[in-house]
Amino acid sequence: MKKLATAIAMTAIAGTPTLAHDRPLGDGKISSSPRANYLMSCQQRFNANAPGAHRTGDWISGSTYDPAEKPTVDGSVSWPSRISVSLQGNQRVVSANNLPNHPTGNFPIARNDDAYSYDRNPNRIREQNIMLRLPADPQLAASPSCVPMGMIGFALSGVAIYNAVDAAGRDAPAHEIQDKCGGHPQQAGQYHYHDRSPCLADTRSGISGHSDLVGYALDGFGIYGLHGEGGKALTNADLDACHGHTHTVMWDGKAREIYHYHLTDQYPYTIGCYRGTPQRVAGQRMANAGERRGPPQAGERRGGREQFGDRPPRQTLFGLFRRPPQDRP
Ligand SMILES: [Zn+2]
Ligand SMILES: [Zn+2]
Repeated sequence: MKKLATAIAMTAIAGTPTLAHDRPLGDGKISSSPRANYLMSCQQRFNANAPGAHRTGDWISGSTYDPAEKPTVDGSVSWPSRISVSLQGNQRVVSANNLPNHPTGNFPIARNDDAYSYDRNPNRIREQNIMLRLPADPQLAASPSCVPMGMIGFALSGVAIYNAVDAAGRDAPAHEIQDKCGGHPQQAGQYHYHDRSPCLADTRSGISGHSDLVGYALDGFGIYGLHGEGGKALTNADLDACHGHTHTVMWDGKAREIYHYHLTDQYPYTIGCYRGTPQRVAGQRMANAGERRGPPQAGERRGGREQFGDRPPRQTLFGLFRRPPQDRP
């Protein structure tokens, strides 16, 4: 469904700047050390032809893009979401099935969806067995560390949080097509966000207008919504290179001065690097089994294109289109 940029057009008529919905494009902003506005990525080499959107969106213009002009995947599918978070000794245990507590679009993306002309995501949403054992009282590590592909955090809406880039290392929210809640599945069916989901309620019941907790990073630190102290909508300039800062927030029901991350509407959107020590996740390797590491092999580019892009999907007796899962983050 195409969102109309009516508000922007009206603003333009009124003669005020039209940049409110323009976001800087994060393409190429991959770093091997902590750097503001960059993603400190564990994966440093990407295959430019990896699966993902197959066509550059017309909402991307030069070094910016306009999310309000981007199509979203149609549909409204409800799921039996399950998530529990409990403190067990010095651990915070997150148990979930990774199905969201909000509706999703129809995946695989249907051929008659306008999103299909940009992104033919053939993956379907599947339940995952999530069991995270995070430090209940996370500590800052001696130095920040890189964020991997795949899950880097978990949202209280029951959904995995991934980093800012797609399999080709580009700005994922700018290039890939998500549903109205900003999510989509990868090859193992894991539904995930790459940025601040509009379906993740940004409530502010805690300290002086500060957003409430919306999830946990895999190093155990909290992830909060867009607003900082005094209700200020945060930008990257308010945060460190890892996309966080330290001040008093509500933490396990008490006011406490502690490091935490924020979601913003600027790349890298979620976590730029880990300030704590990330926990290993069971199943993470499997979820990322299709990730390409290192330079493409002979024939890989052609193969990828033919397998996932231009070849018409097979048709079953019942007229259902089946496409092979796509190894995308
Ligand atoms: Zn804060
Ligand atoms: Zn993704």
